[in-house]
Amino acid sequence: MTPPPFTLSKSEAIFAEAQRLIPGGVNSPVRAYKAVGGVPPHLVRGEGPLVWDEDGNEYVDLVGSYGPLILGHGNAEVREALHAAVDSGTTFGAPTRGELEMARTITERVPGCEMVRLVNSGTEATMSAARLARAATGRPKILKFEGCYHGHGDSFLVSAGSGALTLGAPDSPGVTKATAANSLVAVYNDLDSVKAVFDEHGSDIAAVFVEPVAGNMGTIPPEAGFLEGLRAHCDVSGALLVYDEVMTGFRVAKGGFQDLSDVRCDLITLGKVIGGGLPVGAYGGRSDLMMQVAPAGPMYQAGTLSGNPLAVAAGRKTLEILGRHGIYEQLEYAGSTLQKGLMRVAHEHGRAISVGRVGSMICPYFSAAVPRNLTEVTATDREAWVRFFNVMLRSGILLPPSPYEAIFLSVTHTQPVLDRILEAADLAFREIRS
Ligand code: PLP
Repeated sequence: MTPPPFTLSKSEAIFAEAQRLIPGGVNSPVRAYKAVGGVPPHLVRGEGPLVWDEDGNEYVDLVGSYGPLILGHGNAEVREALHAAVDSGTTFGAPTRGELEMARTITERVPGCEMVRLVNSGTEATMSAARLARAATGRPKILKFEGCYHGHGDSFLVSAGSGALTLGAPDSPGVTKATAANSLVAVYNDLDSVKAVFDEHGSDIAAVFVEPVAGNMGTIPPEAGFLEGLRAHCDVSGALLVYDEVMTGFRVAKGGFQDLSDVRCDLITLGKVIGGGLPVGAYGGRSDLMMQVAPAGPMYQAGTLSGNPLAVAAGRKTLEILGRHGIYEQLEYAGSTLQKGLMRVAHEHGRAISVGRVGSMICPYFSAAVPRNLTEVTATDREAWVRFFNVMLRSGILLPPSPYEAIFLSVTHTQPVLDRILEAADLAFREIRS
C-alpha cells in the first residue's frame, strides 16, 4: 500500500487562524519557519525520539524543544515525578525541600558553582547574572560575542554587525541606544578582537558573557586558547567571566562544559536540561558573588513561580537520571554516529559538508570546514541547506528550522533511529543534487 501523500493541511489551517491572534502565529519566532518557508507542523504528541503532528505525520525529532529533551519525549520516570508533584500542589510561593535538593545536585556537579538561584527561563538567568556582575564590580559594560545568544534581555539583543569592535547598536527596536552602548561585541574565537575591546574599555567591563560552545550559530566549539584568553583578560582587568551554559549545561557532560575544560568561570547560567521540559533557568557561581543576591545581599531579583514544584520535580528527576552510569557515553555515541554518517552520505553524493559537534549538540554546515565565527557561518550555502531541510521534513525527519540552530539528540536516539535519519539524509542529498 502506498502511504498517503504528505500534507500539512491541518497545521496550515491552525497556523492561519493563529496568525490573527498571536504575532506571527507563534510564541517564539523561530517556530514560524520563516527561514525555511512553508508551514510549521503543529505537534500533538511526542514519545521518545518521535513526534506526531495534527495531520498524523510522524517525525524523528531532532529539535528536542531546542535542548531540554535530553531524555527524549515522555520519559516514564520524569512523568511519574511530575504526576506526584501535581498531586501535591502546583505552586506554593514558599520554599520547598525540592529546591534544596536541586541546588545540591547543581552545586555538587558543576565545578566552581558554590551557590545557585533558580529562575524561570534562560533569559531570566542571563539578565540576573548581568545585573549581579554589574552590582559586584560596580562597572556598567558587558562584552558578548557576535552570533552568541543569551536570551532576549535588552543588554543582549545587541550585535556589532559586520564591524567587530564597534560599540553595540540595538538589534531590535525598543532596545535603547543607552542600553546598547553598554554592550560591547567581539568576534567568537578571535582573541585579537577581544584584546581590542579590553584595550579600550577594560576598566568599564563588568563581565564577559560567552557560550563556551557556541550553540546559536550551529555548533561551534571554542578553539584551543580562546577561553584561556578570555579568562586572562578578565583576571587582568577585574571583569567576571560568565559561561552561558543554558544549552551546554548538563548536556555536553555531567557537570556541563567545565568537565571538558580547565578554564573556570566566575558565574554560570543554566536552563533547558535542568528543567526536564518545564520552564526553568538558574544562575550560580562563586559564593562571594551569589551572597550579593537578595535577601542575602542587596542585588534584587525575585520570581512568583521561581523554584516551581513541578519544574523542580521534572528537573531533579532528569538530573538524577543523567547522573547514572553510561548516559553521556550513549549521547556521545549518538552524536558521533550522526556526525560521521552525515559526512559520509553527503560525500557519497558529492556534497562537501562539515559537521560541528560537541557531544549530543551537532550542526551540519554546507561548507567545507566547520565555521569559526558568525561571519563564516553566514558564508555557508544556506540555499542548499533549506532544500535539504524540506526534503528531510517530507521524509519524516524534523530538523531545527534554521541553519543557525543546533540539533539536539537524546538518549532515545538509538541506532535504529540514527539509521532512519541517515537513510533519509541519503535520499535528501541525492534529491538536492539535481
Ligand atoms: N542562553 C543560551 C545560550 C540560549 O541558547 C538560550 C535559548 O536558546 C537562552 C540563553 C535563553 O533561554 P530561554 O529561551 O529559556 O529564555
